[in-house]
Amino acid sequence: MLSVNKAKKIYKAQSGDVVALNGVDISFKENGLTFILGKSGSGKTTLLNILSGLDQLTEGGVFFLGEDISKFSEAEMDKYRNIETGIVFQNYNLIESMTVYDNIAVALEIQKGNNKDAIDKKIKEVLEYVNLEEYENRKVTELSGGQRQRVAIARALVKNPCIILADEPTGNLDVETGFAITQLLHNISEAGSLVIMTTHNMQLL
Ligand code: ADP
Ligand code: MG
Repeated sequence: MLSVNKAKKIYKAQSGDVVALNGVDISFKENGLTFILGKSGSGKTTLLNILSGLDQLTEGGVFFLGEDISKFSEAEMDKYRNIETGIVFQNYNLIESMTVYDNIAVALEIQKGNNKDAIDKKIKEVLEYVNLEEYENRKVTELSGGQRQRVAIARALVKNPCIILADEPTGNLDVETGFAITQLLHNISEAGSLVIMTTHNMQLL
């Protein structure tokens, strides 16, 4: 479903070229939890940004269902980003001024075609799934790190994507909370989606 072929990424920095990916080949499985393990600076964020369509390769390609994503039309790329993939970041990337509910609603509003009732139903379901059903009206600034990461996972999951990309989702959390988040992502992958998670922490494997 998803593969990377001879992926090379070179950043043009002031001090010269930085080779962040140097000929990466990966063929991901259809589903399940896949870890990408690497120390800081090894190119994990670069790879996930490229898999999610946020950034582009210098050479090589990312293929989704056999199609080179760099050749997607604008509409195809919107679909890839808004429906087919969901992203979770180390620092959550939630909108701090908004409630839990509204943060998740954003993901459904950009999908279009969801009416208010459908949005409401999906948000309630996903919040129950991540064990935050009582928190929908809380502002995200009033949540713990682990709870914020659950909201970020809910925001990715509510789109019902076939791929979830999680970049060091446990990086800001204590060990116990990190394991709980990894378990949640594992459960999501068992339900049928492909979850790709980067980490520099061997103990999570
Ligand atoms: P990781 O997520 O594994 O820590 P990154 O993908 O963030 O690694 O970075 C890989 C390499 O690319 C590092 O050497 C980093 O300094 C460099 N890098 C990342 N982003 C940029 C950028 N925008 N410009 C120049 N170099 C970058
Ligand atoms: Mg990183």
